[in-house]
Amino acid sequence: MRALIVTDMQNDFLPPKGSLPVPHGDEIVQPILDLIRQEEQQDFHRIVLVRDWHTRNHTSFAKSHDLPEYSQFEYKSPRPGDKSTQMGTLWPVHCVQNTWGSQLANPLLKETYHTHLKIVDKGFLSDREYYSGFSDIWDFHKTELHDYLQKHHITEVLVVGLALDYCVKATAISAAKLGYNTTVVKSLTRAIHDDDEHMKQLEKELKENNVKLVDEVPPHQSANATA
Ligand SMILES: [Zn+2]
Repeated sequence: MRALIVTDMQNDFLPPKGSLPVPHGDEIVQPILDLIRQEEQQDFHRIVLVRDWHTRNHTSFAKSHDLPEYSQFEYKSPRPGDKSTQMGTLWPVHCVQNTWGSQLANPLLKETYHTHLKIVDKGFLSDREYYSGFSDIWDFHKTELHDYLQKHHITEVLVVGLALDYCVKATAISAAKLGYNTTVVKSLTRAIHDDDEHMKQLEKELKENNVKLVDEVPPHQSANATA
């Protein structure tokens, strides 16, 4: 069974008005909407819209630390007694729960009535950063995503949305590690850093983690087998 995972298609990530705009992110709203509407032809058993869903004082905001936006920051593990740290980028305030910025891009918002569609939130614990739709960066707190996909017997996932080099990448790598046959559809993503060097590094990382990166939506594998 195959599922479509649409990552972070929210107002704050979209130019020109979002607070953390991913360059050209607005270009993929309509194509993703078209893909969702092809649910049956594409054999999507389930569709998941992942939302970044932060509290006002979230630790990933530069403002929460009185530091400049986009500066590097050493996160300390949220688990008491755990001394591990991770470097990350501090962002402008974005996707605060129940604000315009955290709302799904307008045309997608209108699709959320689908019975086969679920919204999964990440980022709502204030003390930790999240990129993957499955868990925080420490892999301590799990979202509902894996349970939901398991419940619906999903074995294959397509990941699209924003941003290719952060949440799409992390979501896809988590999915592959959890055993899903995982593909990122490049034409339905946009990256924050999309120069050749970053792209090459990204392609390598996806490959090393068993994630396929393709230009267009591939045909469903089991559909082929039964044809
Ligand atoms: Zn965020």
